[in-house]
Amino acid sequence: MIWASFNGTAVLKPLNPEDEERALLFAAEILKKGGLVAFPTETVYGLAADALNPAAVENIYKVKRRPPDNPLIIHVAGVEQAVGLVKDIPPEAFLLAENFWPGPLTIVLPKKKLVPDITTAGLSSAAIRVPKHPLAIKLIRTADVPLAAPSANLSGRPSPTTAEHVLEDLAGQIGAVLDGGRCSVGVESTVISFLSSPPALLRPGGVTLEMLESVLKLKVLDLTVEGGGKTYKRIPPPAPGMKYRHYAPRAPLYLVVGDYPLLKKQLVALAEGFLMQGRKVALLLSRESEGICQAPVLRVLGSRKKPRQVAERLFSVLREMDLLEVDVIVAEGFDEKGMGKAVMNRLRKAAAAIIKTEK
Ligand code: AMP
Ligand code: MG
Repeated sequence: MIWASFNGTAVLKPLNPEDEERALLFAAEILKKGGLVAFPTETVYGLAADALNPAAVENIYKVKRRPPDNPLIIHVAGVEQAVGLVKDIPPEAFLLAENFWPGPLTIVLPKKKLVPDITTAGLSSAAIRVPKHPLAIKLIRTADVPLAAPSANLSGRPSPTTAEHVLEDLAGQIGAVLDGGRCSVGVESTVISFLSSPPALLRPGGVTLEMLESVLKLKVLDLTVEGGGKTYKRIPPPAPGMKYRHYAPRAPLYLVVGDYPLLKKQLVALAEGFLMQGRKVALLLSRESEGICQAPVLRVLGSRKKPRQVAERLFSVLREMDLLEVDVIVAEGFDEKGMGKAVMNRLRKAAAAIIKTEK
């Protein structure tokens, strides 16, 4: 086991099964005492507290500096545990759970009384998911409580996809981080709400809208786009968290959107303008656009044809921008299909300005 301490935060990186058991017992003990533990999931690293302990959950808000009206996702080990926390579960929700759990899908349902108000930021509903990472499931089982866990970053910063990212933001403020390597999905879970009929997409993520609709065999109300849901009668409250600016690196990020390959011209013009001002420009491009322009920093996010690749790298590249101390970031927009929808949702929230390419 690599067992280190950063300003009092234990870093637990198990290298074999015995190590793993020791690390899990150590982390579970912290959680049972009301402390905080960061842990890997397949989406991003989460910052966990016992979801049923209001004082422990309060610490999450404090440490992350998270606005108090932004509710937390509760992580459970399986459907049985979920059923203990929420009620009025329609068959469609079970169908989604069957198809996508464990996995990057969060389901919003009316909460039972035992879920403390602070965990749901005062809402009468709770957001639940079963994560896919083996360490995440083992941690929930060992602690033997549902875990309230937002992403393990300071509010507003890009979400962490490695244990190092967690330490950048939270070293010294949490009991431990369980290091399970790099997260495979790279963006947060999809959030779907069953408070409305049809159900509503509140946040695009690892399970795409297309995947949800093909399993449900109905059109999901898409509240992640402007004007989404206008044609529906009962519109649920959107995810409170989605109104905040998020994921922002320190340097302003200019996101260029529009048809490809037309948007390449706009990317080059913008980058060249900043370069002429003598600014340290970072270009975030697709593999296909790699050669369009020289800049002090160039990062390829992935192929335009493989948005899952882009999602996996996105947050770590945004964090790297801070370490490289760039002055300005010019980023290429991707197609909003499939996983591209989640990628563009995060890029838009990270952007200081969005530039549309005119035809
Ligand atoms: P995070 O944990 O930081 O990835 O954010 C959790 C997301 O889930 C935020 O956008 C929250 O607003 C959303 N969320 C959590 N609980 C609820 C709920 N009861 N109703 C609607 N959205 C929720
Ligand atoms: Mg977050």
